[in-house]
Amino acid sequence: MGGLLSDDAVIPVLAALRSTVVVLDDDDEVLRASASAYTYNLVHDDAVCVPEVSEMVALVRQDGEPREQEITVPRGRVSGSGHFFLHVRVASIGEGRLLILIEDRSAAKRLEDMRRDLVANISHELKTPVGAIALLAETIEDSADDAALVAGFAARMRAEATRLGVLVQDVIELSRVQDGDALVSPEDVDVDAVVAESVDRVRVEAQARSIVVVSGGTAGLMVRGDASLIVTAVRNLLDNAVRYSEPHTRVSVGVSLDPADPGLVRIAVVDQGIGIKPEDQGRVFERFFRVDRARSRATGGTGLGLAIVKHVAANHGGTIELWSAPGRGSTFTLVLPRLIPDEGAGRLIRNEEEDHR
Ligand code: ADP
Repeated sequence: MGGLLSDDAVIPVLAALRSTVVVLDDDDEVLRASASAYTYNLVHDDAVCVPEVSEMVALVRQDGEPREQEITVPRGRVSGSGHFFLHVRVASIGEGRLLILIEDRSAAKRLEDMRRDLVANISHELKTPVGAIALLAETIEDSADDAALVAGFAARMRAEATRLGVLVQDVIELSRVQDGDALVSPEDVDVDAVVAESVDRVRVEAQARSIVVVSGGTAGLMVRGDASLIVTAVRNLLDNAVRYSEPHTRVSVGVSLDPADPGLVRIAVVDQGIGIKPEDQGRVFERFFRVDRARSRATGGTGLGLAIVKHVAANHGGTIELWSAPGRGSTFTLVLPRLIPDEGAGRLIRNEEEDHR
């Protein structure tokens, strides 16, 4: 190897590049390749083994002009294991050698797909209430001289407007928890206070449906994060527990330390409601997924509640667990890292401030 590759300075430069690099000699044989070139299945037996890239190489050989292209390669031999989305640039670097630079854009592509999906979903969900409101307004115009009819349609219009408001609020909440990181400027959060506030907020709804809400468990536990987000998450779980239960049943919130890991706090919301079939259990956390659209709609659901809960859990370095049996009920458990007050740095700073007062 002479020229470029014998130059001791160049090899570390190639190694330091964030991109994946492959260098070909004048026979298109691989002289040097980053380990990731093998991960992306681009190189095999000292040769480039992806047809699109080989074509780019041939074109650059013909006229010396660099080429760029986005390509998709399978992640692995197993079908269904997904794809890598790669940006590939091929350029001549003299002495018959070619440099191939590869950037993995899979994560960016995934994010873009997710955004596009979200926008499509939201537009679809917004169309229903907006369409209903337009239709009701038209009907009111047509029956302007029938006061009873007008009153009835106006009430339905108000219900649709409320639904629209709730949906917009949930979308805003979801985008807030999707982007946010509750641990950037966290506060000490008292779990008992969070539970009490959440229970308070569903009390009226529960009473209206003759459902008793109780709470209990280990008192005095703390976590770290954003109290208002945790209240939102627990309240969403309670809303659902009430919404998907029959009258004269019981909903409870239990706080405990994880028996296997005392560094974790478990907040379990237990209902005796309709339950969730095993095949739907993995899907209920997806945005806009509802087992029964009509029931969700009738009770004012948006299909976003559990997506929000999942993001709040993740933002706090925690998870959400689900146990459910159709006809018996469901238990959703928010698991969050525990804050042991005396060890928390936040607590130390606060004590110092108090000393200065
Ligand atoms: P929604 O606004 O429709 O309640 P969620 O994201 O909160 O949306 O929940 C998604 C779906 O999961 C619900 O439509 C319902 O089918 C199911 N689900 C959620 N919580 C419960 C529960 N406690 N019992 C039974 N089904 C539930």
